[in-house]
Amino acid sequence: MTDKQVDVLSRFVFEQEDIRGSMVRLDNVWQQLRTADDYPAQVQSLLGEALAATALLGRNLKFDGRLTLQVQGGEHVRLLVLQSDNDLRVRGLARFGDSLPQAFTELVDGGALCITVESGQNRERYQSIVPLSEVDLAHCLELYYRQSVQLPTVFMLAADDSRAAGLMLQAMPERKPGSGAWQRLTESISSLDVLRMSRLDDRTLLTALFPQDDIRLFAADPVAFHCDCSIERIENMLRMLGAHELSDLVSEQPVVEVRCEFCNQPYEISADRIFALAAEVSGGQGKFVH
Ligand SMILES: [Zn+2]
Repeated sequence: MTDKQVDVLSRFVFEQEDIRGSMVRLDNVWQQLRTADDYPAQVQSLLGEALAATALLGRNLKFDGRLTLQVQGGEHVRLLVLQSDNDLRVRGLARFGDSLPQAFTELVDGGALCITVESGQNRERYQSIVPLSEVDLAHCLELYYRQSVQLPTVFMLAADDSRAAGLMLQAMPERKPGSGAWQRLTESISSLDVLRMSRLDDRTLLTALFPQDDIRLFAADPVAFHCDCSIERIENMLRMLGAHELSDLVSEQPVVEVRCEFCNQPYEISADRIFALAAEVSGGQGKFVH
């Protein structure tokens, strides 16, 4: 194992304890996301933490699955979307207002955290909405796990200009409470500087954090930036604008260039097609399938 691990997620298990963990280091993937827009520092931190969390959560997806972590409805962070598929291909973006506060709770004030898992060919959806009532995103995700799967879970998340990193520990369903191991292990990471520690290779990091434990480490999985946008998805996004805005788009040019907000890929759509979409959405409820 080299000490230069980039864009990888590693899983491990405490052999004696029925507790599992994973950690993620995102470098090039993070640069692609981070530099897609001119993000203010506090939005960038949140985006990086959410990216690390999305990869950690995405690792649990089954075949043909997709996980979306979304913060929406706030006054400051109006929208933050991160997605991962079951191959740990991720994308994401944030939309924000002016004069942003620094603290997490104020930054996301009025918003909600929404976690959606889609799976299978018929895209079955499971959605959980979690209040953004905790001190940071990591604690909000711990609340999500307490409410949804009722498994004790801890997250450490951080991001700076060069890297987004995360560490997660989770009690397995078969764990018998009372051994004290959960408390001991979570205490050992409670004041962890996750970014600094992520510079160590997996084995060195685990030995430093949990010197007395027998840990099985699995081969690392690569994480990649990937946008699965298509003309169909762009048209679905346009339908959401509503008939009025669609017609306004065309009045200026015969061909409209629309860019994917995740990867900046341009799509050219003819005025005729835009009118057809506008007729569709004014004829009935605009149906959103993103
Ligand atoms: Zn795209």
